[in-house]
Amino acid sequence: MKAEKKMKIVKTIKINVDECNGCRACEVICSAVHAAPKYSSNNPARSRIRIIRDPLRDIYVPVLAGEYTVAECAGRDKYTIDGKEYDECSFCRASCPSREEFHEPDSGLPLKCDMCENEENGPLCVQWCLVDALVYEEREVEVDEEETQEELEIGLDALASKFGMQTIMDTVARMSNKER
Ligand code: SF4
Ligand code: SF4
Repeated sequence: MKAEKKMKIVKTIKINVDECNGCRACEVICSAVHAAPKYSSNNPARSRIRIIRDPLRDIYVPVLAGEYTVAECAGRDKYTIDGKEYDECSFCRASCPSREEFHEPDSGLPLKCDMCENEENGPLCVQWCLVDALVYEEREVEVDEEETQEELEIGLDALASKFGMQTIMDTVARMSNKER
């Protein structure tokens, strides 16, 4: 049977690495908006955007938390751009066992950027970035309905085998109880 098609909005944050000055305002607001209760604290360790920094080399790379991976990758890349050499993993978005970023400090569960879900004016990190290092874009694409469901199931299976379904349920319950 042919898969049903549906329209989906793809949300993107375009990152202008050259504009970022490492102020970390994006980390502050992201962790604050996801605190429970909302805005009760800010802690970059809980942020879904992290700035990979090396001030002595004038390197500041904003990275948005992407997918969770069970295992770290075996091969890594180094990039040299405009004479600056970037460390391995600098541009990687994975919530991966070999890095500290993108794990909730209490539960260890992976963090993933949610584009601030239902925030009326769009992603807050974009709004708080005063130098346009982060630019929000939207476009509409046609997708198979089945594919969307499949992606969700694969993601949940991987999480459940690593953390156990109970930890996931507890964390979801805790987060859904937070005051809005
Ligand atoms: S708010 Fe903008 S300039 Fe500041 S660290 Fe984040 S991306 Fe960079
Ligand atoms: S879009 Fe929202 S959830 Fe994603 S990194 Fe920015 S502030 Fe955090």
